[in-house]
Amino acid sequence: MLPVGNQCAVCSEPGKLCAGCKNIRYCGVECQQADWKVHKLLCRTFNDARDAPSPNMVRVIEFPVNETKPKFRWMPIDFDLFCRPLEGDFFGPDKPVPSIQSINAHPKTGKLLPLTITFMFRDNLLKDGSLPNKSVYNFTNGRPLNDARGPVLFYGSIPEVEAEAGWKIFDCVDLDTIRLNVIKDWLTLGTDAAPERRAYQERNSAEATAAAVANRDSALETLRKRLEEMP
Ligand SMILES: [Zn+2]
Ligand SMILES: [Zn+2]
Repeated sequence: MLPVGNQCAVCSEPGKLCAGCKNIRYCGVECQQADWKVHKLLCRTFNDARDAPSPNMVRVIEFPVNETKPKFRWMPIDFDLFCRPLEGDFFGPDKPVPSIQSINAHPKTGKLLPLTITFMFRDNLLKDGSLPNKSVYNFTNGRPLNDARGPVLFYGSIPEVEAEAGWKIFDCVDLDTIRLNVIKDWLTLGTDAAPERRAYQERNSAEATAAAVANRDSALETLRKRLEEMP
């Protein structure tokens, strides 16, 4: 499972389990209250969704079109190189091939997440008459960045094995109440909107440039030595 440890979901200090769901941790009342507006949407329902109804299923977070808030849902797993939930007729009786967008970094801080969270939606949602998604609109206070229409869901996956060069096998991982804030930030801000994220990227690319220059310098140095040693 994921290395969540005993960290407070808000500030990363050591925290105690939420008494309602025994899933998320907070260091104290202040952090718990700061997160409650989002966490309360799933806190009380987590116990009912705790255990898989049968093997080979994954717990996803669904945003129903005509309900006011998100909820957990267990779905069968499609085992492939990139594991994903089997949607069946989740996206409608016409069973469209869904599209996906993956979240690998925290939308606000830009830090890599310990899992990939993937957004699944009707590919043709803008043209097929899909209705605006009420639970997404509520969740984002009416300001979703993505034009979320029709039913949508989020699922989690983690890279399991580094196979052949460049290939990773992804395994499904159950989403719980802990990542709901990341989902909210992503629905509201998108991937590149936050100034903190841009700053992080710039810092990272400065470090990468410095590392590349150092690499090049040491390669040149090696080359120079070899040339000197040549008869
Ligand atoms: Zn805290
Ligand atoms: Zn809770």
